[in-house]
Amino acid sequence: MKLVEVKEGLARILVPKAERIYDAPVFYNPIMSLNRDISVLAVKVLGPKGVLDALSATGIRGIRYALETPAEEVWLNDINEEAYGLMKKNVGLNIGGELYEEGDRSYLWGEKIVVINRGDANRLMAENFRYFDFLDLDPFGSPVEFLDTALRSVRRNGVLAVTATDTGVLCGAYRNACLRKYLAEPIRGPLCHEAGLRILIGTIVRYAAKYDLGVGVLLAYHRDHYFRVFLRLESGAKKADRSVSQLGYLWADKSGRFEYRRGFLPDKPGASGPLWLGPLKDESFVEKLIESAKDHPLAHKKTLPFIQLISEELDVPFHYDTHTLARACSLTPPKLDVIIQRLKDLGYSATKTHFSPTSVKTDAPFRVVAEVMKNV
Ligand code: SAM
Repeated sequence: MKLVEVKEGLARILVPKAERIYDAPVFYNPIMSLNRDISVLAVKVLGPKGVLDALSATGIRGIRYALETPAEEVWLNDINEEAYGLMKKNVGLNIGGELYEEGDRSYLWGEKIVVINRGDANRLMAENFRYFDFLDLDPFGSPVEFLDTALRSVRRNGVLAVTATDTGVLCGAYRNACLRKYLAEPIRGPLCHEAGLRILIGTIVRYAAKYDLGVGVLLAYHRDHYFRVFLRLESGAKKADRSVSQLGYLWADKSGRFEYRRGFLPDKPGASGPLWLGPLKDESFVEKLIESAKDHPLAHKKTLPFIQLISEELDVPFHYDTHTLARACSLTPPKLDVIIQRLKDLGYSATKTHFSPTSVKTDAPFRVVAEVMKNV
């Protein structure tokens, strides 16, 4: 395997030289540096002691946790033999100390404790019951096959971070796959990304509830080709009941009108879900991310503006796509800023949303938004 060195955050990483990222023997995607930046900031803000990067590939993510956050003990794991070799090389490049190897595991006791493991993530997590304060799942595609063991491997009140890159499934392009993997009905059209993110959270809420764990959403977002969530696992049956009570269903039509209702079962046909109808961010956590980003060597130039956009976004379920509404009323879509200002003038809250550059999040009802669209 031919290697080239890249820099990301404070890390220097050897990655395979390949024409296309999916041809490489060990996976590395530079676009995901924004995902890793936000994750590093999250670990910095949350201050966990023990961290697991369960699906590590080159080791970049775990190495950045070790270099850029106060985490004391960082574990890296991958099932792929070549990834294991590369993780060891990359840890050696970045972190001082001697590496001791025992079978498929290497240990480094230096400035930090670093454990590098080759094996199935499910096995590793099952063997480390309630051990990690922060556990990161960054799989190819869907995370569902790792959820049960991950929920058992996080300490009570610890944090689980999950990526899902199967956006085609969660956004309804492959409906049957969504029914199978997430036991949820997806939706197509302008709400598909927000609904997909909420289906993902809703699924994790249902998985967690059986272990008497509630879920507090610290941050959840959609970007590029993936979804990402940071969830605090709150211990206790009452917390789990409270999370389950935030599940419900969405109904949307072609005109851009939608409605949603909480409930264990849908109360009329045509529903999408079950999905999470609770908040997508904890405002004080997001504020802390922004604060800690200011003096941090971020790898992606869009990381800070993106977190700022999320921080300003009104946290209500779903949004109105102005182009869909304009099409339904045979109008030319007015400027988004103008619509937002008009809604504010009428006394409603209204903001842009990271889900779509043509959409508005507002607490105004559909008829008011449609009226504003017609009159600007
Ligand atoms: N987290 C990495 C990053 O930020 O660059 C990327 C991880 S890549 C998307 C997913 C990795 O999961 C691959 O390296 C693959 O070998 C590994 N993998 C797949 N199934 C696994 C399993 N059951 N146990 C451990 N690793 C697995």
